[in-house]
Amino acid sequence: MHGSRLLDQIPGELSRRLGSTHTVCMSSAQPVGRNHSDVTEPPPHPCQSCGACCASFRVQFYWREGERDHHPQVPPNTWQESHETQAAEPSPWRIMRGTGDKHHPRCTSLRGRIGAFVSCDVYSARPSPCRAFKASYENGYAHPRCDEARLRHGLKPLCKADWVAWHSAKQILAEP
Ligand code: SF4
Ligand code: SF4
Repeated sequence: MHGSRLLDQIPGELSRRLGSTHTVCMSSAQPVGRNHSDVTEPPPHPCQSCGACCASFRVQFYWREGERDHHPQVPPNTWQESHETQAAEPSPWRIMRGTGDKHHPRCTSLRGRIGAFVSCDVYSARPSPCRAFKASYENGYAHPRCDEARLRHGLKPLCKADWVAWHSAKQILAEP
């Protein structure tokens, strides 16, 4: 995640395990049919059955994003000041509530069950680290932080095949 989703909490063992996760894809995802009648609505985005990153990292952002004149404004009741700085000055950083827990971070705006069905209460106004966070292979490349988060929660890292159904259904639905 650009800037602020901190990964220094990732255990070394987890990082080592990542070294072997991209060679074999265990996905059972299959391409959807090419017949238009097979596809009537968008398939769920893979993140909608995951949510691991929202319960793995500290989600920190610059204070401006929580101000009323910022668009979108991250809702004030969903974040708190970061208290990690020792400086006398007020911290310029905010963190999403729940993500500062060193052992069991979980954003309080996350709803649902990780690995099954999840949603974000503030999706349209989520902070920039959440917007910048990329799911592995969504844009064709592995993203280690996504993999790390999924492994933390006992989920296999995503692979290219996980996106085949998603992309092909979107393509079909976009056709006239
Ligand atoms: S604001 Fe939404 S996307 Fe960001 S960590 Fe919280 S639940 Fe996840
Ligand atoms: S860990 Fe990866 S797949 Fe899971 S919700 Fe986050 S970006 Fe999506």
